[in-house]
Amino acid sequence: MAPRRRRKKHSAPVASRTQVALSSPVSGPSIDALGFVSLESNVPGLSQVILQKLNMKSYEEYKAVVNGESPGSGFGIHSLSDMFQRLEDTFQFCAQCRVLPNQLSDSKILRRCKRCRNVYYCSPECQRADWPVHKRVCWELRLVAIDRLVEWLVVTGDFSLPSGPWPWPPGAVRDWDTWFSMWGAQLDTMLESVLASHAMSTLWDSVGRPRPDPDSLRGSLRRLLTDTLSQPLTVGLGLRTLVGNTAKLGGITVHVVGASHVETFLTSHGAYEELQHMFPGSGGLHVVMVGVDLAVESLPQFTSVLPATPATIQLSSYRGLYHDFWEEQIEMGQAVSPDLVAGFHPGFHASQDLMAGWLPTLLLLRDYEIPTIFTVYSQQELTASLQILMELEIRIIAYGDNPFASLKPEQAYTNPNKQPVYCSAYYIMFRGTSHQLDGEEAVGKMDSSI
Ligand SMILES: [Zn+2]
Ligand SMILES: [Zn+2]
Repeated sequence: MAPRRRRKKHSAPVASRTQVALSSPVSGPSIDALGFVSLESNVPGLSQVILQKLNMKSYEEYKAVVNGESPGSGFGIHSLSDMFQRLEDTFQFCAQCRVLPNQLSDSKILRRCKRCRNVYYCSPECQRADWPVHKRVCWELRLVAIDRLVEWLVVTGDFSLPSGPWPWPPGAVRDWDTWFSMWGAQLDTMLESVLASHAMSTLWDSVGRPRPDPDSLRGSLRRLLTDTLSQPLTVGLGLRTLVGNTAKLGGITVHVVGASHVETFLTSHGAYEELQHMFPGSGGLHVVMVGVDLAVESLPQFTSVLPATPATIQLSSYRGLYHDFWEEQIEMGQAVSPDLVAGFHPGFHASQDLMAGWLPTLLLLRDYEIPTIFTVYSQQELTASLQILMELEIRIIAYGDNPFASLKPEQAYTNPNKQPVYCSAYYIMFRGTSHQLDGEEAVGKMDSSI
């Protein structure tokens, strides 16, 4: 697990937006279609509660809102307090017996754990029975509950990212500690201004719980920064390690495979500009997001290869599977072969269906010897994914703790006592096939025996 960082505050200019976009509550629980269905098995009735509280009819509508599209006319959220209350309601079930508020007898209500303000109980008996398990995660869940709310400032644009070319060479920025040191005082100033902002006050006036102390809020802002910038910096790590010369004439092309609304959100909030800042001397960066779950509306659609402009970044999207993109675009000469492919939580280890979807892409990356970086959530996923890649005779170049993992804990939504995970906690880099090496070795052996 990524360690908590307790560094001093850091800063970036704040784009103050007075008007909160009430029509797109993106900070709600982000659940993919599979997860949405699995809610039912963990907490029966919960998925219906979520849809009902958010005035939505189906998962598709929920996803549309998460993707930043306008919700249907019956959305009916009238104030910020109303919205936060509805979001909080979606977390209300007894962590021990799983009872929902509407299943309680009239006089009873669910009460929150006072320490983390994140999980609920129907009775002191349930809370006592749950404590031996809950105490292991209570402290981390306290952070989750704060981040969930502070994240709203990222969504509304009241908390923006540092900007400008990196003053340090990318190789000197080995991890978050050095990244925070690099931005130093500028980031400190920015975080202090977010703490003092009207948006921050409005937020805590609206959420029905006391405002945490400044250090807790600074910690949360820092975790959210790492969460927002984890992907672009992980791509940067891949470029630095696997590609090297980013000043290449004609620019560098990165394909982000299996991209979803997460990537769309990050790009629309300028997170990927950090890549451009990381390589101010680049010959130009093209980043193409490729995925079936991509909200293409918020990103320019991929058309064809554009000339590279040094020290700029161009983002585009293609909705579909990567092997189709390869056939339709790269093989037809519409797109260039990538210098790097990145994939965040591809999940091919998780099920046979997911593996079947990924297999053509994995084989293609192997056979065309595309430098690739993937990330996973846990050590267990790392082991399972490495196993699969090795079975496919893919040559693993490096793997381990991602120095740019998100430091924001992620709670298992319907199973709050499960150990929180961190996005992109581990990375795997690979290129080409291990088989060929064996072949060369075999030839070598034959030669020496002659
Ligand atoms: Zn209970
Ligand atoms: Zn607790």
